Amino acid sequence: MNLDRRIAELVPLEPSFVSVTYGAGGSTRELTNDLVVRLLEETKIPAVPHLTCIGHTHDEIDGILERYAEAGVTAILALRGDPPRDGSDPDAGHFDHASDLVEHIRSFGDRHRYRFRIGVAGFPEGHPDTPNTLEGMNHLKMKVDAGADWICTQLFFDNHAFLDWRDRCRIERIDIPIIAGIMPISTRRSVTRMAGLAAGTVFPASLQRSLARAGRDDEDAVSEIGLHWATEQCRNLLDHDVDGIHFYTLNKSDATLRIHRSLGVRSARGLQRRGP
Ligand SMILES: Cc1cc2nc3c(=O)[nH]c(=O)nc-3n(C[C@H](O)[C@H](O)[C@H](O)COP(=O)(O)OP(=O)(O)OC[C@H]3O[C@@H](n4cnc5c(N)ncnc54)[C@H](O)[C@@H]3O)c2cc1C
Repeated sequence: MNLDRRIAELVPLEPSFVSVTYGAGGSTRELTNDLVVRLLEETKIPAVPHLTCIGHTHDEIDGILERYAEAGVTAILALRGDPPRDGSDPDAGHFDHASDLVEHIRSFGDRHRYRFRIGVAGFPEGHPDTPNTLEGMNHLKMKVDAGADWICTQLFFDNHAFLDWRDRCRIERIDIPIIAGIMPISTRRSVTRMAGLAAGTVFPASLQRSLARAGRDDEDAVSEIGLHWATEQCRNLLDHDVDGIHFYTLNKSDATLRIHRSLGVRSARGLQRRGP
């Protein structure tokens, strides 16, 4: 299986964690659960399942948390998720925002004497549902006050945006670790796809100029440009004492391996100072 091979290639880097995505509304519930349990059994890397709450009831979430507690999962990325595209009713569930899920996971911990470490999403360039950035920061603070232990950001290509947002978090006394999300561009299609999935993400002019200079059909040039851009982003983030870097690997390993080598860190732990 491709995924197994990719994971095997990344294990020697000793990443602090591997995160496993979750289809909103539970569409990949079993797949997420099975992969997390398998990673825990077969590798020594802590697996961090993503969990979205939109459309879920309290009992459904409790069922998932019970399975994770039994499997020895220690950390969860708590998310709202996005409303279902199939038109089914997102209000059918008991949760409105990720902060409700954070609170619920904390109350589960109290009821079952099991403490998960909880991560939440951060959006350095803002979240499309909340154009008011001051409000967006208040909502992030609500997740932290509800009991989040760390923040993992949406992918970004502009470090200035991230560093300024991190400063604004600190001004608001959000002092938990902030892990920066980096996605090396690999194909022209992935750029278009990401622009849709991570709405609001800025593609800096300098990056766009480089991509425009590459021939239309030269995908090798595109992936080299993406790799170089992501490497320079990581180098700059390390210079600015980033708490950690989370690679959106999209089930690939080559780019992450090459970036890691170029940065000169001994293991991926060198990329993380504080985190889950
Ligand atoms: C690192 C990362 C991993 C992700 N993994 C997944 C995944 O595995 N599966 C998946 O389906 N999606 C995933 N997503 C996408 C995510 O679910 C969506 O971006 C979603 O729209 C926002 O989720 P959230 O947890 O930030 O929600 P929230 O924190 O609830 O925020 C959602 C919106 O509501 C606003 N808001 C929050 N609280 C309030 C309030 N009290 N009143 C009014 N407005 C409020 C916020 O400002 C924001 O605009 C991921 C995103 C990131 C950054």
